[in-house]
Amino acid sequence: VIEKGQPEHSAVTTCAYCGVGCAFKAEMQGSEIVRMVPYKDGKANEGHSCVKGRFAFGYATHKDRITKPMIRARITDPWREVSWDEAIGHAAAEFKRIQAQYGTESVGAITSSRCTNEEVFVVQKLVRAAFRNNNVDTCARVCHSPTGYGLSQTYGTSAGTQDLKSVEKADVILVIGANPTDGHPVFASRMKKRLRAGARLIVADPRRIDLVKSPHIAADHHLPLLPGTNVALVNALAHVIVTEGLVDETFVRERCEWDNFEAWARFVAQDLNSPEAMESITGVPAGDLRAAARLYATGGNAAIYYGLGVTEHSQGSTMVMGMANLAMATGNIGREGVGVNPLRGQNNVQGSCDMGSFPHEFSGYRHVSDDATRAMFETFWGVPLSGEQGLRIPNMFEESINGSFRGLYVHGEDIAQSDPNTQHVQAALEAMECIVVQDLFLNETAKYAHVFLPGSSFLEKDGTFTNAERRISRVRKVMPEMSGKAEWQVTVELARALGYEMAYRHPSEIMDEIAQLTPTFAGVSFARLDELGSIQWPCNEKAPTGTPLMHVDRFVRGKGRFMMTEYVATDEKVTARFPLILTTGRILSQYNVGAQTRRTDNTAWHPEDILEIHAHDAESRGIRDGDMVAIQSRAGETVLRATVSERMQPGVVYTTFHHPVSGANVITTDNSDWATNCPEYKVTAVEVRRTNHY
Ligand code: SF4
Repeated sequence: VIEKGQPEHSAVTTCAYCGVGCAFKAEMQGSEIVRMVPYKDGKANEGHSCVKGRFAFGYATHKDRITKPMIRARITDPWREVSWDEAIGHAAAEFKRIQAQYGTESVGAITSSRCTNEEVFVVQKLVRAAFRNNNVDTCARVCHSPTGYGLSQTYGTSAGTQDLKSVEKADVILVIGANPTDGHPVFASRMKKRLRAGARLIVADPRRIDLVKSPHIAADHHLPLLPGTNVALVNALAHVIVTEGLVDETFVRERCEWDNFEAWARFVAQDLNSPEAMESITGVPAGDLRAAARLYATGGNAAIYYGLGVTEHSQGSTMVMGMANLAMATGNIGREGVGVNPLRGQNNVQGSCDMGSFPHEFSGYRHVSDDATRAMFETFWGVPLSGEQGLRIPNMFEESINGSFRGLYVHGEDIAQSDPNTQHVQAALEAMECIVVQDLFLNETAKYAHVFLPGSSFLEKDGTFTNAERRISRVRKVMPEMSGKAEWQVTVELARALGYEMAYRHPSEIMDEIAQLTPTFAGVSFARLDELGSIQWPCNEKAPTGTPLMHVDRFVRGKGRFMMTEYVATDEKVTARFPLILTTGRILSQYNVGAQTRRTDNTAWHPEDILEIHAHDAESRGIRDGDMVAIQSRAGETVLRATVSERMQPGVVYTTFHHPVSGANVITTDNSDWATNCPEYKVTAVEVRRTNHY
C-alpha cells in the first residue's frame, strides 16, 4: 500500500509552459500527480523552476477535460458523444466533401506550439500528403514569425544564436520588448545572477518592468520608448555606432558581406536616423540613446534578448533585422556572452517552426518551391506534393470570409481567443462548414467547431519539445491518455480516413523520420536524447552532440547580411478620440490564453486581467485605483479593472490577455508585420473611461 502523497512512479519530462524548457521529475501515484520536482540535471534549469512549472499542473486532470469525441451538425446544436471511429470518419468525410465542392485549397490546419514536435510533424504531413496543399500554419504566426524572417535574412536560419547559459558570460545585456521576470522566470534568475555579478543592463521597454529596478539590480539605461517605435530606436543606436567609429571593422570585413554593410552604414549615418531626430518619435531622450549605444558597442560581450515587444509590430521583421545588424556591426555574434536571442513564449515555438508547419516551408526551413527538397519528400512520403505556398492563418480567415476556404483542423490552439480582432476571427470561423478542434477543453474556438477530438496533457505524451535555445528535450508519458488515444495517433487515423497511410508504432519512429528528412536533426533520436539528456540542433555528423552556439566561424548563410531598416510609422494613430496607446504582455502566474493556468490554483494570484494606467491619465479621467473602466478602440470595447501604476508612462496603458471574459483581442487591430503577417498586438489606440457596467 502506497501512502497518500507518496510517489509510486515517476519520469523526467519537460515543462509544458514557456520556452525556457525546464526539466522536471513528474512524481505520480497512479494517475494522480503527487508533485513536479525541478530536475537538477536539466540543462535549461539546473534544478530551478517557477510557479507555473512547479505548481500549475492541476489542469491536466481537471474536471473540465473532455475525454470523449463529439460531433454536431451545426454550431448551434448540442454536442453528441460518439466513438473515435465515427468522429474521425465524420471529419474526414466532411473535409473530402468540402474539397470536392470547393477545391483542393479549401481546407487546412493550424498547429500549436504547445504540442510535441512529433505531433506537429504529423499534422503538417497530413496537410501536405492527405489534403495535398500547403495550407498549414502554426500559432508562431502570431508571436515569433518575424524572428524566423529576420534571422533567416541576416544570418541564414530561424533560431536563437546562443544557449541560455551563455548569458553568464555577457558583460552588457540589452533587453528589448521582453519581461523575463514574468515571461521566462528561470532564465530571468540566471540573467539577474549575472547582473548582480556586475554585468551592465540596458532595458528598452515602454513600461518600467521589474528588471529596470529590482533588489540589487538597476538598469544603467531604461529607454521607455513609445509602442511602435522600435525600429526608430534601433536605427538611432546604429547611427551612434557608425558615426562615432564604434564598428568592429575587422569582424565585418571577415564575416559579413561588405557591400551590404556599406549601404547600411550610409543609411543609418544619415541625420534622419540620429538620436536627436529619433527623440521626438521614440520619446527617449537623445542623450540616453547615445549613452546606451556606446555601452552596447564598447562594454565587452554584449548580448541582446528580446520578446514579443519586438515581433508583434507592423515592423516586427524589420526590428529583428535591425538587432541582427547591431550585433554584426559590433562583432557581438559567434561566441559566448553575445548574440541575438529570441525569448520564445510557448514551450515549443522553436519546434513547431522547425517541424515545417509553415505554409512555405518543409521541416528545417526549406521552401516548398525548392524542387530538390520537394522531390525528396515526395519520394519518402510516396505522393506528389504542391510547390505552391499555402495560406497563412490571417489568409485562412480572409478566404473563409471570401467563401473559398471552408474546412479547418485546429490542433491545440485557441484562435478565437488568441488571434487579434476577435470579431473578424469569429466571422471567419462562423463562415466555415467544418471545423475540427483537437484540445483538452471546450475552448473559445470549440464554440465554432463541428467535431471535437479530445487531446492529451503533456503528462500523457511521449515526444519532444524544443526550447528557445534549440534544445530538444524528451517529454515522457507518466499516465495513460484520458481519451484512450494519443494525439499523434488521432492525426494518423484522420490521414488514413482521408486516404493517406502513415505507419508509426511510436513517436520515436516519427522522430526517426524527422531526422531522415531534416539535415539539422540528422543525429537526433529518442535513444540519443536518453543518452545525452537533451540536444541542441543542429545535430548531425559535424556536430554529433549538438550545437550550443551558432555562427561561430561562419554564418549559416555563409557571410552575414546587413539589411535595410527604414522606420515606417504604424497605421495605428492616436487621435483626439483615441488618445492613449494600449500595449499588452504576460504575468508570471498565468500562461497565454489561460486555458491551462486558469484551471489551477495559480489563478488565485491573478484572477482577472488588469489595465495599468499612469496616475496622470487616470486623474484626468476621474479614474481611481480599482475602478472598472471601459477601453474602447476602433475595433471594439472591453471592460477591465484599472490599476494606477508607476510602471506606466503617460499616454500608454497596458493589459494582459489571459482571461477570455475581458478579451483584450476584442480591441486589437488588423495591422500586422509587413513580411510575416504577425499581428500588431502591441499598438492599439484607445480611450479609457470609468464605467459601472461589467
Ligand atoms: Fe516552466 Fe518556463 Fe517556469 Fe521553467 S521558467 S518552470 S519552462 S514556465
